[in-house]
Amino acid sequence: MKNIIIFGAPGSGKGTYSDEIVAKYNMGHISTGDVLRGEIKNGTELGNIAKGYIDNGQLIPDELMIDILAKTYDALPKGQGVIFDGFPRTIPQAEALKKMLAERGDDMGMMIELVVGEDVLMARLLNRAKEQGRADDNEETIKKRFAVYHSQTAPLAEWFEKEGIRNTFTWKGSKELMLSEIFAAIEEQK
Ligand code: ATP
Ligand code: MG
Repeated sequence: MKNIIIFGAPGSGKGTYSDEIVAKYNMGHISTGDVLRGEIKNGTELGNIAKGYIDNGQLIPDELMIDILAKTYDALPKGQGVIFDGFPRTIPQAEALKKMLAERGDDMGMMIELVVGEDVLMARLLNRAKEQGRADDNEETIKKRFAVYHSQTAPLAEWFEKEGIRNTFTWKGSKELMLSEIFAAIEEQK
């Protein structure tokens, strides 16, 4: 199985579709958000640093993230493919990922971009706030995360386009429809 990068705004469904893809293809899964929340929960030094950024809707500095990503990747079984959920989020992270994989004889595989309108995203995240109580799922921090996404992360879509691996899926009101389109693209390219 190829590697997959799943890309989209906060609340676009990266984690949700990743879980479905992982279940179907038995791949590895790296959610950088989950890794960071685990560190915070365990009260590690990294967790303490990350918390300040996350609660403020900002990105963790690239050098730190790149280091975490490489360590997490190397801890996974080889040859099964990995889905990268929430990484890369900046151009330097994308360049670092490409280099890190090349050094290991691997590549980025395919990129799946999820496009969802901001009104839908806001409604989902406020609903998740009720269900999961994530500290950064409040209206003020969500707005900051959207702004960070537009300024630092969204431009990366073009970067993936130039790499020739961008596959865009636009929300049309149904998770099942999205999933069937995503699975069809994976089947074509895996
Ligand atoms: P969702 O999971 O619903 O798509 P999200 O993209 O906002 O929403 P996570 O991916 O869980 O959520 O990330 C939560 C926070 O963790 C981010 O706002 C950021 O502070 C930090 N974070 C996660 N991944 C990275 C990354 N690659 N670079 C920098 N910061 C990151
Ligand atoms: Mg997530």
